[in-house]
Amino acid sequence: MTDPAANCLFCRIIRGDIPAKKVYEDDHVFAFEDINPQAPTHVLVIPRKHFAGLKEAQSQDAEIIGRCQLAAAEIARRRKIEQGYRTVLNVGPGAGQSVFHLHVHLIGGRPLAWPPG
Ligand code: 5GP
Ligand code: ZN
Repeated sequence: MTDPAANCLFCRIIRGDIPAKKVYEDDHVFAFEDINPQAPTHVLVIPRKHFAGLKEAQSQDAEIIGRCQLAAAEIARRRKIEQGYRTVLNVGPGAGQSVFHLHVHLIGGRPLAWPPG
């Protein structure tokens, strides 16, 4: 069976095959600047372990999803955007998911309207 990580864009970024501006990393999580930022801070926080998205996540992935959220909070703290920021998981093409390696968007540094589009 083909390894889904082999051709996954974000797995390739983690491996260093594709350059990205690294923001944060630890044993479980990797974070980098979004190539098409929608706000002054737009960082993608991803698990090192490949899985396609929230829909595909299983109970054993609960901890790593939490770690991604906590890494986003730490990045927001360091960037002093805690007055207001958003963490977003786009789930499925209908919600705009275009890369099928789970990623948390950290968006902030400007006023954020609600509801999102
Ligand atoms: P999605 O649309 O799946 O929720 O989010 C994918 C995000 O990945 C988009 O915000 C897009 O700008 C970003 N992205 C796509 N390709 C690359 C890339 O090669 N490098 C980086 N740094 N970001 C990317
Ligand atoms: Zn991947």
